[in-house]
Amino acid sequence: MRIYISADLEGIAGVVHGDQCHEGGKDYNRARHWMTQEVNAAVQGALDAGAVDVLVNDAHGSMRNLLYEELHPKATLISGTGKPLQMMEGIDDSFDAVFLIGYHARMGQHGILNHTISGGTVGGVWVNGLEVGETGINSFTAGHFGVPVVLVTGDQCLAAEAQELMPWVKTVAVKRAISRYAAASLPRDEVRDLIRQRAHEAVANLSSAGPLRTQEPVEFRLRFRDTAQADKADILSQVRRQDPLTLAFQATDYLTGVCRLRALIGLGR
Ligand SMILES: [Zn+2]
Repeated sequence: MRIYISADLEGIAGVVHGDQCHEGGKDYNRARHWMTQEVNAAVQGALDAGAVDVLVNDAHGSMRNLLYEELHPKATLISGTGKPLQMMEGIDDSFDAVFLIGYHARMGQHGILNHTISGGTVGGVWVNGLEVGETGINSFTAGHFGVPVVLVTGDQCLAAEAQELMPWVKTVAVKRAISRYAAASLPRDEVRDLIRQRAHEAVANLSSAGPLRTQEPVEFRLRFRDTAQADKADILSQVRRQDPLTLAFQATDYLTGVCRLRALIGLGR
C-alpha cells in the first residue's frame, strides 16, 4: 500500500502568524520542526496500518520546510520549487490514499491564516460553481488520478471545510482558531497521538472513501484581490473576463484546468 502526503505549514499546531511561515521570520525554524513532527506522526500511522511506502511532498512556500534529518526514516521526501503539480507533485494512480497535513481554511472563511494559494492575489476559486480552497483544489487533483483523500489536519475550520467536501474524510483539529491570528493549540503529545491514530484509522477504512471528482469539461473561475491583478492575467485566449475581478475558463479535464489556474495566478501576482 502506498500513501501520499502533502504537507503545508499554516495548519500545524502552534502556528498562528505569517512570521512563523517564511524563511527569516521569527520562530520559522521552530515551526519547521513542529511541521516535521506532525508529518512523522502521520507517516507512522500509515505504516501502523500496513502501508509499505510513504511519499511526503513539502507543499508550503519555498517547499523546503521539512527537516530532512528529522523526517521519519521510512518516508521519501519531495522538496523544492519548479514542481509541475506543486502542492501535489508526485501524485499518480499508484497511490492508495492521500493525507493533507497542516492545511488551512480557504480565503475569506474563518480560520488561522485563511487563504487560497496566494493570500495577496487570490480572492476565491470555483470549480464547476463550487468554491474551493487548497483542500478542494488538491483533493480534485488526487481524484483525477483516482486516489481518495482520507485524512486532513489543521484547525477546526479546515476540518469542517474538508468534511463538507468529503464526508468520508478523517480529520484532526490540532488547534481551535479564535481569530485569523490566534488559536488554542492542543498539547503537543496529544496532537501527535491523534494524528497517528487517525492516520491509522483512515488507512484501515479505505473502502469507505472515494476519490473526489467533478464533471468534465470543467468550468473554473478565479477571483483576484484587485483589478490590476486581473488586468495582468487577462491576456490569454480562451479566458473570459467575467467581471472586473474575475476570470473564467473551461478545461477539457481537471488537471489541464488546475495547471491553467496556476498560470493565471502567476500572471496576476
Ligand atoms: Zn502554506
